[in-house]
This record gives sequence, C-alpha cells and structure tokens, in this order.
Amino acid sequence: MLTISEKIHFDCDVLVSGAGPAGSAIAYHLAKMGLRVLVAESEKFPRDKVCGDAVSPIAINELHLMGITSSAIFKKANEITKVGLFVKNDHAIVDLVLPEELPYHARIIPRLALDNSIFENAKKQGAVVMEQTRVLSYTVFPNKVVTKLQSGQKPFELVSKILIGADGSRSIVRRILRNETFDDDFQLIGLRAYYDNVAGPRERMDVYFTEENFPGIYWFFPEGESGANVGLATLSKTFPYKQQQVKKLLTDHIAQNKDIRDRINSGSLRDKIEGWPITFYDAQKTVTGNRVMLVGEAAGLINPLSGDGIQYALLSARWASEILASCFSDDDFSAEKLYSYKKVLDEQLGYDLAFSNLIVHFPRNKSLLPVWMKAVETLVARAKEDQQFGEIIVGISEGTFPSFKALTFDFVLKILLQGGTMGSDYIMETLKKPSEFRTDGQRFFRTLQKIFSEMTHEPQNNLQWMSQIAKKLYHVSQHAVKARNVQSDK
Ligand SMILES: Cc1cc2nc3c(=O)[nH]c(=O)nc-3n(C[C@H](O)[C@H](O)[C@H](O)COP(=O)(O)OP(=O)(O)OC[C@H]3O[C@@H](n4cnc5c(N)ncnc54)[C@H](O)[C@@H]3O)c2cc1C
Repeated sequence: MLTISEKIHFDCDVLVSGAGPAGSAIAYHLAKMGLRVLVAESEKFPRDKVCGDAVSPIAINELHLMGITSSAIFKKANEITKVGLFVKNDHAIVDLVLPEELPYHARIIPRLALDNSIFENAKKQGAVVMEQTRVLSYTVFPNKVVTKLQSGQKPFELVSKILIGADGSRSIVRRILRNETFDDDFQLIGLRAYYDNVAGPRERMDVYFTEENFPGIYWFFPEGESGANVGLATLSKTFPYKQQQVKKLLTDHIAQNKDIRDRINSGSLRDKIEGWPITFYDAQKTVTGNRVMLVGEAAGLINPLSGDGIQYALLSARWASEILASCFSDDDFSAEKLYSYKKVLDEQLGYDLAFSNLIVHFPRNKSLLPVWMKAVETLVARAKEDQQFGEIIVGISEGTFPSFKALTFDFVLKILLQGGTMGSDYIMETLKKPSEFRTDGQRFFRTLQKIFSEMTHEPQNNLQWMSQIAKKLYHVSQHAVKARNVQSDK
C-alpha cells in the first residue's frame, strides 16, 4: 500500500528559547554543524543579567573552545588568583592553583559584556536571532514541534524539528515539559549591587559567611580598575521559617561587617540593588522529552554550594549539541534518543551535584545553626593553616574540584583534627580564666536548650528534613557505587 507522508515546511531545524550563555552557545555549536538555527530572545542585547559575574576556569575553557578568549573584554577582565574566606573574627586567604588541563584562572566579567560576546559569536557562526521575541508555549507532534511566540503585540508560530529550552531559571519550556508548579526546594535567591571606587586587591575575591545569612553567602568580586560586584545568595526554603528581607540582609552586611566595609571603603553604589531566583538541579526531574531538550539553568544546572552556573550552561550546550548531531544524522528526535543527553549530564555532573545538594540540605534546619556555624569556622581555620585544604574548599565552590572528591579519609580527618585542636585550644584558654568557663558553660547549655526546644516545636519539618537527608544520601551512595564500578572496570 502506498503511504503519502505529509510534506512539512520547517522554519528552521532547531528553535532555541533564550540567548543567554546556554542558548547562544548551543546556537553557535549547531550553526557550526551547518544546521538552520533560530534563537528567540525576549530581551534586546546587550542585556544585563543579575549575577556575581565570576566566570570559572571551566567556563573560560569553554569560551576558549568557541574562540571568545581573544576578545578585548576578556583580556581586560580581572583575573582572580586569590580567594578570601571570612567568618566571624577569622579569615583565610587562599592562593588558587589551576588544574593542569585548564588554561586560565577565573575572571570577573560583567554579564552585560560576557553574554553579548557569546551572543555575537553565535550570530557570526550563522545562527539567526529574533530579539524582543518571547516563547509562549509549544506543542509536540510526531514529526514536528510547533512553538507559539510573541514579538511586540504580534503572536505567531514557528515549526522546527526540535525545541531547546535555554530560557533560564523561570524557563517556560521547562514548566511545560514537566507540567511544573512552583517548587522552592531547589531555589536560591540572589542579589547583586555594583559599586564604584572601592579599595583592595584587584585579583582577590572575597566570600563571607554569617549567622544572619546562613545557609547562604555574601561576596565581594573586584571588577575593572576600581569597581566591584557585591551580593548575596541564600537558600529559599529553610525552617524554622523566618521572613527574610534579603535586601536588608545585604545592606546591613555592607553597613556593619568590618571586613567588607574595609574593601568597599569610600566606594559608592552605582545603581539599584537587583535580585533574581536561581534554580538548582533535581536529578529526579526530566530534561528531555519528544523533540524537546533543556540546557543551562532551564535544566537547573547550578552548583547549589556556590550558585555558579555559567560553566554548566556552556558545558551542557556543547554536550547537547553533540547528541543532536547524532539525532540529525538518524532523523530521530524521540525522547528515547534524546535521553542520552540526560545520561551524559548524570555521568559528568550527577555525583557532584547530588553531593552538593546533600551538603546544602543540612543547614536548611536552622535549629542547628550554631552547629553549622562552628563547622564553617572549622573549615576556615583549617584553610588558613593548610593551603592544600583551602584549595579544595575554594575549588569546590569554583567548580574545578568536584565536591564528592573531598570525601577522602585524609580530608575528613583534617576537619576532625581541626575541630579537636580548636576544642582543646578553647579548654586551655578557659582553664587560664576559670571565671569565663562558667559563663561560657551557661551559654553552651542555653544554646542546647534552644536547639532542642526549636526542634520539638517543628516535629513535622524535622521529620521531613531527616527523610530528605536519607533520600539524598541514597542518591549520593548510588553515584558512589557507580563511580567505584567505573574505576574497577578500568
Ligand atoms: C545573584 C546571582 C549571582 C550569580 N552569580 C554567578 C556567578 O558569579 N558565576 C556563575 O557562574 N553563575 C552565577 N549565577 C548563575 C548564572 O547567572 C546562571 O547560571 C546563568 O545565567 C545561566 O545561563 P543560561 O543561559 O542558562 O540562562 P540565562 O543567563 O538566565 O539566560 C536565559 C535567557 O533567556 C531569555 N528568556 C527567558 N524567558 C524567555 C522566553 N519565554 N522566551 C525567550 N527568551 C526568554 C532571557 O531573557 C535570558 O536572556 C548567579 C545567579 C544569580 C541570580
């Protein structure tokens, strides 16, 4: 029997929603393969994006592969060779050592300039961009995907073979693909303020840990000759629940914390403080479907320990384009075929992100805040004495050192020894001044009492917290077993 197949008019091979680092990078890679790529971007470029502007060595390596590191913007950006870790009355300055395979240290590049250079690179490679054009929805058919868009007041439709969701933390493509409702389990809130005429070294970025903003961090990243990107990231869902005025947290920190005051010095706020949500990775959720794929932050590719995501946006774009090359040669865009992209993400990032998710889950329980703060003080004290230890801590937050690799006997022993040393130092000091021992002892028991009272007030949340820890531990152990099997196969 003769079957007549429908002749489809495709407006392009690939439609990309969003032209941030992930969208522009995948557009570049696919256009380079000779595919017809259309990018729909809701803003007009160059556009700003609220960010710390820290571009990690792995991200820079990806830019290098796309030929972007020869630009003037890249060359004049501050190269970061030191990191300051600040916690109550103590700090460590860590010298950064580059892993052999990476050519550049991290740089601070304002997103206005960075994103524009990736965007222009994609256009130069042949991708066609529609600015001020928003993706509204899409429908997948067996042989095509039809996307509804809007430019000004004008709605219209485009037909493509595949749709890529590269539309960031509030991705419409992700929400439709997952039929998703809002879930703050995997959310951080970020704020950023630009300063002019600040003081201090131009090659050192500082990170601050405080009780008021924990679990979370503040940062000071030097930008250009005398500017700085100052901000905070904080976990959205914690308990006992306290309404957090994040903007006030940041302005109070800048006004009251001596370490950051010293760096801001007589500097002045350039513009208003801006905020943005950050969505991190839930390995249980899908990133592919029939004729649809998510890359970058739309897929939740963020390290929850640091809030970094540019490197994952660029890496995922390259990995997705490699899988798509095979889809185009087989003319197969089924969910089964695209699932190999999810496998690559799990292989390359799964263990690291699962371990980071576990670590950030612990301090969600703010009843135990004194314990978490002690743990951070111990890490900073050890980093001050032990350069190699400091490099690991900073490497984890920079994304150059996978967090799970810190699970070595040696590393854990160093933390325990540091805790022991700090404890015995304290005992020796108080023995010299026994009167303080009573006051400290009373304070210690009051803290314990407070912890227990808060824990018993929220039994439901505590139970949920513990069951989530068990679940996350299970995921980490699955990755650990897989990694061990791969190792023993070699
Ligand atoms: C306060 C803060 C600080 C951060 N600091 C750092 C840092 O220092 N280093 C780091 O590596 N990462 C940092 N991140 C994370 C980083 O910003 C993201 O990982 C990165 O932007 C992800 O790139 P992306 O291309 O996936 O998404 P985005 O950069 O968000 O780009 C998405 C694009 O899609 C467009 N878009 C959205 N919806 C639509 C639609 N419906 N139709 C068409 N276009 C659409 C948007 O306009 C945007 O241009 C920070 C984030 C925040 C909020």
